[in-house]
Amino acid sequence: MDNLSRAPLYSGQIKSVGPRYCPSLEDKVVRFSEKDHHQVFLEPEGLDTYEVYCNGISTSMPHDVQEAIVNSIVGLESAEIVRYGYAIEYDYVPPTQLQPSLETKDVENLFHAGQINGTSGYEEAAAQGIMAGMNAALKIQGKEPLILGRSEAYIGVLIDDLVTKGTQEPYRMFTSRAEYRLLLRQDNADRRLMKYGYRNGLISNEQWNKLEEKERDIAGILTYLEKKHVGPDSLAKIVSRPDRTFDDVLSLDNELRQRPMSKEVREQVEIEVKYKGYIERQYTQIEKFKRMEDLRIPAWIDYSTIAEIRTEARQKLTQIRPISLGQASRISGVSPTDVSILMIYLAGKKKE
Ligand SMILES: Cc1cc2nc3c(=O)[nH]c(=O)nc-3n(C[C@H](O)[C@H](O)[C@H](O)COP(=O)(O)OP(=O)(O)OC[C@H]3O[C@@H](n4cnc5c(N)ncnc54)[C@H](O)[C@@H]3O)c2cc1C
Repeated sequence: MDNLSRAPLYSGQIKSVGPRYCPSLEDKVVRFSEKDHHQVFLEPEGLDTYEVYCNGISTSMPHDVQEAIVNSIVGLESAEIVRYGYAIEYDYVPPTQLQPSLETKDVENLFHAGQINGTSGYEEAAAQGIMAGMNAALKIQGKEPLILGRSEAYIGVLIDDLVTKGTQEPYRMFTSRAEYRLLLRQDNADRRLMKYGYRNGLISNEQWNKLEEKERDIAGILTYLEKKHVGPDSLAKIVSRPDRTFDDVLSLDNELRQRPMSKEVREQVEIEVKYKGYIERQYTQIEKFKRMEDLRIPAWIDYSTIAEIRTEARQKLTQIRPISLGQASRISGVSPTDVSILMIYLAGKKKE
């Protein structure tokens, strides 16, 4: 099946955009014309059926062409097609019309999540779904929205990209889109995000206490490793060597061996010690980034009155209405000079 998205819903112009990441056979033939063969995986549809899904030849060509394609494959000369491939199309609403909470800017209390925002993918939809759901609930309760930062979660990167830059083709979340990949790890998801779940009533006291205990254990062992020396080097220094592991220092130090510590705590300690330099560098970058994110832009700002900002940037800022100087700086068409002017303007307004 070919997957097309039509965009944008509200601008009056509708265009078809093919997905880059699951192209149809007809698309592949053009894009990868230098290849002389193509692999097709035959996937049985189930235990009780003779139907087979041909993975790798999604297509919306006419039925007789589809038959010719399938029958040209070695082994499938006599295969019959039970259901023909087809193209799907969907409209999406340009996600720049959303606030970072996923509430639409124009219709208060309406939240959008998933494919309607121009994304493709199960996880992309699920990630937005949980955020839009939580933020709708928070809004009803009169509370501040939950907005995850780019340095805190892939969800933060996904939503910030969508609402700041929009998308011209079905958006997929790739790890390469995140600046702070070293910190966005699976093994530290609890340490990064559980606080938000706890604050919002999704995490029990018991789970929270466990995390606090884990943090205390990690901090305690890290301090111990820094302080305790074997010969000229601290235990931390020894663990940090490429050819050494945490197990090596356990065998060197009786006191450390006696300390009760879970597998998860050991893993975190080892990662933090081994990658300390890189992790610290990322934290420094995040600090810089955060300073810009913390400089909030009030909702009442009227960009048309700031003549010093270039016309294109003024238009983009008016359209996107960023909530912070950091977000403003990521809008394409807004230059560092425009951001500086905006910063000076806001500082002046604060004084008034
Ligand atoms: C053939 C195909 C294969 C795919 N394969 C993959 C894959 O392997 N991996 C992957 O990650 N993603 C895949 N995707 C993409 C993924 O399925 C979608 O991006 C994702 O499911 C979108 O989720 P969603 O909740 O935003 O929208 P949907 O799952 O489309 O949910 C929207 C729901 O709203 C309902 N609805 C619509 N209008 C109304 C209305 N007026 N009133 C009430 N209900 C309404 C619809 O019936 C539907 O149930 C595939 C998509 C297709 C088409």
